[in-house]
Amino acid sequence: MEQDAPKKTREQRHPEKQRRPDSPIARKPEWIRVKAPTSPGYHDTRKLMRNLNLATVCEEAACPNIGECWKVKHATFMILGETCTRACSFCNVATGQPDALDPMEPARVAIAVQKLGLKHVVITSVDRDDLEDGGAEQFIKVISEIRRLSPGTTIEILTPDFKDKGDAVEKVAKARPDVFNHNLETVPKLYPTIRPGARYFTSLELLNRVKKIDPTIFTKSGLMVGLGEDKIEIMQVMDDLRAANVDFLTIGQYLQPTPKHAPVARFVTPDEFKSYETIARAKGFLMVSASPLTRSSYHADADFEKMKQAREALIKAG
Ligand code: SF4
Repeated sequence: MEQDAPKKTREQRHPEKQRRPDSPIARKPEWIRVKAPTSPGYHDTRKLMRNLNLATVCEEAACPNIGECWKVKHATFMILGETCTRACSFCNVATGQPDALDPMEPARVAIAVQKLGLKHVVITSVDRDDLEDGGAEQFIKVISEIRRLSPGTTIEILTPDFKDKGDAVEKVAKARPDVFNHNLETVPKLYPTIRPGARYFTSLELLNRVKKIDPTIFTKSGLMVGLGEDKIEIMQVMDDLRAANVDFLTIGQYLQPTPKHAPVARFVTPDEFKSYETIARAKGFLMVSASPLTRSSYHADADFEKMKQAREALIKAG
């Protein structure tokens, strides 16, 4: 039966942010506005997630694309619980002391993937700095369970940085996901305010390591813009990602979830996104998605196919 657990208040979701001053939420330009989700497909997807007691980043991050994605049953699963041990100033996922790992989570995710009939699935997680392996083993179990129930489904993982977690990255890469995604999120100068628990070069090195462990795994990373970065800094990040042999870059507009989160510095125009896409393609990424509503998992299935074709064309061209 579909059940909604009592919702946490904003204060409960982000206790560490409550002493910050409010930053009023800027009115969105017309190119950002989306319709409220109402389709039968949306409701079916929601029901399945509730019945299997699964979390999605679509809901937890208050993603603007949820109506469009869930209408066609494209949900992005969020594993390792619903509570994150970091407190990034851009992120709407609840922060705090996480629950114990659920040993049945991998099986439930795999059942949902099978029931949704997904050709390509994206699995992400909260950060679990409290676990010795950062949650690596749970990622491996989820990959294995999905492969068991849906052998034809391609698997994309979007992981935390596994900072100070030994060989966690190696272990997860050896499970051979089709796509290994880790988001840099923003330019280095903004890490202390936007991603204070992370280190730019740790994240970059993770992507580099994955490619060295298994060059057949596609690597992917994403940036939010509109946080106060300059274009030249974005171009430097693109160069850093190409130096790490990253295949796929996503760039989307940052949206402020609550008045306690980092404010939007500016709304980047659709034309500027096009320009970022052109530059990124010229720098050699196999695949680029850059638009105001681009998110890591937005159209991930179709973009995965395009990326595969781009690699095949490159190999054929010698
Ligand atoms: S873009 Fe990704 S996070 Fe947003 S609704 Fe779609 S699948 Fe979910």
